[in-house]
Amino acid sequence: MTTENRSLYSQLPATDRLLRHPSFLPLLESWGHTQVVTALQGLQQQARRAIRENGALPAWCDDWAAQTALTLADQSAPALRAVFNLSGTVLHTNLGRALQAETAIAAVTQAMRQPVTLEYDLDGAGRGHRDQALAALLCELTGAEDACIVNNNAAAVLLMLAATASGREVVVSRGELVEIGGAFRIPDVMRQAGCQLVEVGTTNRTHLKDYRAAIGDQTALLMKVHTSNYQIEGFTAAVEEAALAELGEETGVPTIADLGSGSLVDYSRFGLPKEPVVRELISAGVSLVSFSGDKLLGGPQAGIVVGKKALIEKLQRHPLKRALRADKMTLAALDATLRLYRHPENLAQRLPTLRLLTRSADDIRLQAARLAPHIEARFGDRFRVTVEPCLSQIGSGSLPVDRLPSAAITLTPLDGRGSQLEALSRELRALPVPVIGRLSEGRLWLDLRCLEDEASLMETLLK
Ligand SMILES: *Cc1c(COP(=O)(O)O)cnc(C)c1O
Repeated sequence: MTTENRSLYSQLPATDRLLRHPSFLPLLESWGHTQVVTALQGLQQQARRAIRENGALPAWCDDWAAQTALTLADQSAPALRAVFNLSGTVLHTNLGRALQAETAIAAVTQAMRQPVTLEYDLDGAGRGHRDQALAALLCELTGAEDACIVNNNAAAVLLMLAATASGREVVVSRGELVEIGGAFRIPDVMRQAGCQLVEVGTTNRTHLKDYRAAIGDQTALLMKVHTSNYQIEGFTAAVEEAALAELGEETGVPTIADLGSGSLVDYSRFGLPKEPVVRELISAGVSLVSFSGDKLLGGPQAGIVVGKKALIEKLQRHPLKRALRADKMTLAALDATLRLYRHPENLAQRLPTLRLLTRSADDIRLQAARLAPHIEARFGDRFRVTVEPCLSQIGSGSLPVDRLPSAAITLTPLDGRGSQLEALSRELRALPVPVIGRLSEGRLWLDLRCLEDEASLMETLLK
């Protein structure tokens, strides 16, 4: 250690002395002794490292209280930060997918604050099971006999397979052996559930006779998987759920379908691309249908299975159900979300996902034209600001080929440099409420489809 460094080390104030200094009083008051001491210890380590590596004290050593306050404020940011989603993807998995309806938010708040009849039957004295109340509503909305709710749709698929086909064979088309992302691959889930996957057909074409030929005495299920995140085009053939269910009926083998997003109403009535409708599959005779709670349904993360009573009972009794069950907050939000579907005329107003998906390109363009001058005033010295038509994505495995016409404010660096764009993205991500856009074609695109709170975006950006 050099003499010089030794003298620097001796300039580091002792924790006790700092804590007694008047400038620390307000910090101790707001954050408490434990947190302040931990923050100080961290800062002292930083200072020692700076002496060791740079032979100098960090500049902030002039004011330990101010630096401690900054550190504590930084650490107090919640793990899940609110952001503006201007990415153009409505159901963005990395941004938490569906926003909840106000009635769902109120229901969750109540379930958090007060005891609720989660597994308690007010009529009899018996212990109800936790999906019972929602099952009735799901049956009303889908025409199914019964329902089972778990943590997400991946869990729903795992439970369907494990509870009804473990140790036996499940027949799936080669065109439907999908990977959803995040390590959810149909062949792997089959293995986890203890099922033997029997692939039939080819990547592009599978016929009913392929399924028929694969059915033997070990066959437990015929399975359809919705190819949500890709599309095979050209010389193709797939078997409709109804035809497969008929074959299942004839041979005594249940048919199940993983719908992915799935929807409870026909979205084409709102001018959106048609996704499979759960009720249509149930009425076509599919035995079990599974779908996500937080994709097109617009509710909380959950996996929902509806279908035949005898099979749902197997799911409810399986030990995995206990491990995968949904919690009371999820069930409260899902219940409130499902209730909105009883009034489909109001759905596009009250369900945020549908409200955002059905915004017209004109409406979004007008909004962009309104905001662009303010953005120009703030960033115009470095960027050319324009309003451009663009295409939004539904997201979360609704067909990536189905795009929704939208409008964006774009920022193009005046000097044409990519480094300016990177810097701008960083700057926007560092805002108190970070703004998430999309970089493409040498510009930053702020797709306004998901912008409902215009005033608070302006406040965040222009402050
Ligand atoms: C999204 C999806 C899943 C997984 O659903 P999560 O609710 O995200 O677990 C499974 N299968 C298909 C076809 C999907 O699109």
